Amino acid sequence: MSQSEKYSLVISVYNEEAVLPDFCANLEESILDLDKQFEVIFVNDGSDDQSLMLLKSFKNASRHDIKIIDFSRNFGHEAAMICGIDHAAGDAIICMDADLQHPPALIGRMIGALNEGRQIVTMIRDKRAENGLFKNWFSQLFYRLINRLSEYQLDENASDFFLISKEAADVLRNDFRERNRFLRGFIQIIGFDKISLIYNAPKRQAGQSKYSLFKLLKLSTNAIISFSKFPLYLGIYVGLIFAFFSIVMGLFTLWQYVFGNTPPSGYTTIVLFLSLSFSVLFILIGIIGTYVGYIFDENKGRPIYLVKKIH
Ligand code: UDP
Ligand code: MG
Repeated sequence: MSQSEKYSLVISVYNEEAVLPDFCANLEESILDLDKQFEVIFVNDGSDDQSLMLLKSFKNASRHDIKIIDFSRNFGHEAAMICGIDHAAGDAIICMDADLQHPPALIGRMIGALNEGRQIVTMIRDKRAENGLFKNWFSQLFYRLINRLSEYQLDENASDFFLISKEAADVLRNDFRERNRFLRGFIQIIGFDKISLIYNAPKRQAGQSKYSLFKLLKLSTNAIISFSKFPLYLGIYVGLIFAFFSIVMGLFTLWQYVFGNTPPSGYTTIVLFLSLSFSVLFILIGIIGTYVGYIFDENKGRPIYLVKKIH
């Protein structure tokens, strides 16, 4: 790509007042060094701290083209990213976090890969030291599960730090408008010329992680539901297993009834069998309910995000 090409940076911000001054300074410097044309889009995802004010003063001080999209409330990281992609006018778009875990110094390397003809550049974390044992374990479990259940193979250490060309962005803008999204999964399955670059993810520089355990669980459920129908078929397999046991138990009871000395007393068996099968049944109904809920959400067709103001 030539010098006249423009690159869009999409940065989602939710209550990042502690880290924004550092991030903005770092970003300004990194992209000045690159000497290319940038458009920086901050998506303020309903922050209730000083983030918006900090962004506005950065906009006034910066030498770059800065846009701030202010959401009407918190819609979540995924919604913020897709909004940024929707509003980006660049020939390539780079999504990144505002907490300096996605170092702006790597933007040059990503653009380099683009210039070599790649249309999707995914940044792969080298290590996740920042996250603690539990988050690492949870993330490993999640990827193992989703890769088992889904026909696609997702990279375990892929992050929300990626570059996509205008063409790939158009696919996300036009064809992946699901309300329940898993963007880093989508970009791995839409094809195009891809490359993964390994980077060393630093610790979050300041402030707290905005992904609570509950939000992580929700994101994981979203991902599994949008990538796999297998849980829906679980009932068939469980049903077959239960049918097998019912036949064995039925034959045994019948045999005892006809040939045994005393009529069969099956109280324990009945209690165990019934409570077990009811628990399984309720769990399966829950799984179906979850899918139905998602279908309902998609069907309503409500917007993924609402913009209060664009600065
Ligand atoms: N974020 C957001 N909306 C949310 C939660 C997070 O825009 O509801 C942003 C957050 O400001 C950060 C990025 O998404 O820029 C990643 O969040 P975080 O660093 O808390 O996640 P982690 O790195 O711990 O997975
Ligand atoms: Mg982070």
